[in-house]
Amino acid sequence: MLHTMQIKLYSSNMGVISFLLLFFSFSALSQPSNNGEVSTDASEKLIRTGVLFDGESIRENWVIHIKDGLITYAGPASEYTGTGDILEIDLTEQFVMPGLIDAHTHVLLHPYDETSWNDQVLIESSAERVARATNHVRATLQAGFTTIRDLGSEGSAYDDVGIREAIEKGVIPGPRMLVAGRAIVATGSYGPKGFAGHVNVPKGAEEADAGTLAKVVRDQIGHRIDLVKVYADYRWGPQGQARPTFSQDELNLIVEISNLSGRSVVAHAATAEAMTMAALAGVRTIEHGDGATRDVYRVMKEHDVALCPTLAAAESVESYNGWIKGTDPDPARITKKKEAFILALQMGVTMLAGGDAGVFDHGDNALELELMVEYGMEPIDVLHAATAVNADYLDIKGVTGRISAGLAADVIAIDGNPAKHITDLRNVSFVMKEGVIYRK
Ligand SMILES: [Zn+2]
Repeated sequence: MLHTMQIKLYSSNMGVISFLLLFFSFSALSQPSNNGEVSTDASEKLIRTGVLFDGESIRENWVIHIKDGLITYAGPASEYTGTGDILEIDLTEQFVMPGLIDAHTHVLLHPYDETSWNDQVLIESSAERVARATNHVRATLQAGFTTIRDLGSEGSAYDDVGIREAIEKGVIPGPRMLVAGRAIVATGSYGPKGFAGHVNVPKGAEEADAGTLAKVVRDQIGHRIDLVKVYADYRWGPQGQARPTFSQDELNLIVEISNLSGRSVVAHAATAEAMTMAALAGVRTIEHGDGATRDVYRVMKEHDVALCPTLAAAESVESYNGWIKGTDPDPARITKKKEAFILALQMGVTMLAGGDAGVFDHGDNALELELMVEYGMEPIDVLHAATAVNADYLDIKGVTGRISAGLAADVIAIDGNPAKHITDLRNVSFVMKEGVIYRK
């Protein structure tokens, strides 16, 4: 049953991809490119900047030399020695920084106030979900996010792998993607739920247990995922409260196999118990973390595990439930999020930036960065989290996250100064990914 369904999903995706390929081939004959590129001319480019954040510090009057998609020089204009016929880009009036990285997205989901998560998983066709995702990745790139870590296709098989590959091949414009594929949940724990006992519906992630875990992890890896996502807890307690799902041994096994393959593991965990178990197992990052305590953060620090707090998802879900921010008092969940976030800051837990876009609009990814400032972080630290720190903990330090020679030419410019006013991130006026300009 499940097997038949997977084949159907696969063939309908191929229809969409074939159409896109055909459309791209046709449009490639004329200019401008349909691929969202504003300019592909000149393999060599020189960006002049006034104020620049390089991922670590603010710099003044730097230039960035780019060749074949890579940064070949980034430093003081006075020390730049290059000459020749180079396309010059003047960004001296804007705030220049590395392309933003979002550590937690779901491009195959769209806001739950448009369509419930259950209905997206059970009713929307794979073709519709992929079609929507092509819009989502374009909007994300246009908002200045040149890399995303997409943490689960939520019932859409390995369509995230396909979207990543379509972007890499130049079929559609979008950010660099690191994808988790189907993600792993313990049998019986995940949704959609609430059906009659005799009705079995497909789940939003792949179920596995002690007997099948090794095979499921290896099979997912074989489908060309970049990392493994596991739900270390979920709302399956007697009253529907979040409780741990996998045993310590099961979590250890997932991490052991994933690490052997060269991939890290990301854990969804909201309870103190599951956060501790996931950290002890050796996951790289923990998502959400609402119920964190001092002891949990101590274990995370000992094991160098970063926290991705997803504040924007929590606020969005509460607003869908009727909360009017600024008028109504904070719901209990938001109070808890704020306390956990402030405690993490006080204890020096490594903080990633990722809001769980998909729960809310793609392209609105900056919402998370705004909330991180609102909850107590300095704007410059948030910019650091959304560039260099995210790159380090997503294991792409050698690829992007900083303006530095040898890295991809992922450069954005902003009207205003987000190091002082984080909301200026809404005014992205220039986007370059791997040397190609997508917005100016
Ligand atoms: Zn998520």
